[in-house]
Amino acid sequence: MISEDVKLDYDDVLIVPDKSPIASRKQVDLEKRVAFGERAGAEFIGVPIMAANMDGVGTTAMADALRRHGIFTCLTKFHTAAELAEFFNGTSERGDFTAATIGISDEDLQKFVDAENRAKGRIKYACLDVANGYTNRFLNRVKKFRAMFPKVVVIAGNVVTHEQTTRLIEAGADIVKVGIGGGSVCETRVKTGVGYPQFSAIQECVHSAHRIGKAIVADGGCTVPGDVAKALAGGADFVMLGGMLAGHPEGGGTVISRFFHTDEVDECGKPIIEKREFVEFYGMSSKTANEKHFGGLQNYRSSEGRTVLIPFRPSLDDTVVDLLGGLRSTCSYVGAEKIGQLPEKSSFVRCNNTHNKVFQDLD
Ligand code: 5GP
Repeated sequence: MISEDVKLDYDDVLIVPDKSPIASRKQVDLEKRVAFGERAGAEFIGVPIMAANMDGVGTTAMADALRRHGIFTCLTKFHTAAELAEFFNGTSERGDFTAATIGISDEDLQKFVDAENRAKGRIKYACLDVANGYTNRFLNRVKKFRAMFPKVVVIAGNVVTHEQTTRLIEAGADIVKVGIGGGSVCETRVKTGVGYPQFSAIQECVHSAHRIGKAIVADGGCTVPGDVAKALAGGADFVMLGGMLAGHPEGGGTVISRFFHTDEVDECGKPIIEKREFVEFYGMSSKTANEKHFGGLQNYRSSEGRTVLIPFRPSLDDTVVDLLGGLRSTCSYVGAEKIGQLPEKSSFVRCNNTHNKVFQDLD
């Protein structure tokens, strides 16, 4: 069976500007409220962006730095129960802007139990993360977690279809993680042929989630602030970012220097060699991640993630300001005084070409 209707990615659409009452971008309110009913984190109030639970992104230092901008972080699953407890016991706001992430194993569940006990219930958000959110084992794990922790807000995924979004919510998820194959260091589409264009996945999954009063986070595939705006305008309650937040000191990676020949010479005529700094960034299913965390790749698995060198960016604040500035501007183009109004204020046009790439950036 082939679904013949065209499915869209961020690159296939643009947001159409409309009459706007907003005189200055400063007027735009980037805080949004997302309610979780009876859960302990009963309401999220902040910027609806989540840092991904990836090495180089989902660190405690990132969580502390991003929280100051009102941004949420999903810690990687490689924090021990003791580390989680120490972090969440630190200040009460950490619990409002950070999730502990676990996988599907019994040890992971036990780790959450231990961490939550030691943190005396201060962990309000749990991210239950697997590459393939379609297995019955995963659904059962979400159900079990929900039964054990009725008050914790559960972020669960990843999926890309509305049917599985509904099943995950019925199993106990509050925020469904939507996105397979679109990530910056993801190789799932290459290795398996599996995936779904992200913009359409968001629209279809959010429709099901909102019908039952639950939320989604659009995970992966954003390359520029405009993509984040498209995801939110397309209905996503949150947007999760890996690559766009990677490469900063708070991510904890080793800075690697590389030397490049330039076409220029100095006053003595000697060729100028330029030093540039990079940080290694890799997918959580990559060979690098498997070697780092599991002592190597099991022979029945293929690596579905890439390892890349990305430019080191010394200032996370600069990156965040650029990102939030873009979102403010989107809101002012469509007349949304609050970021939560983006979906109702935005309409989209399908296109073949979203932006002009004729010149390369200097920086
Ligand atoms: P990005 O914002 O970098 O485009 O995407 C981040 C997302 O990519 C993550 O939140 C996660 O869902 C996904 N991801 C991270 N590592 C891997 C990997 O090794 N393989 C795959 N298939 N997806 C990954």
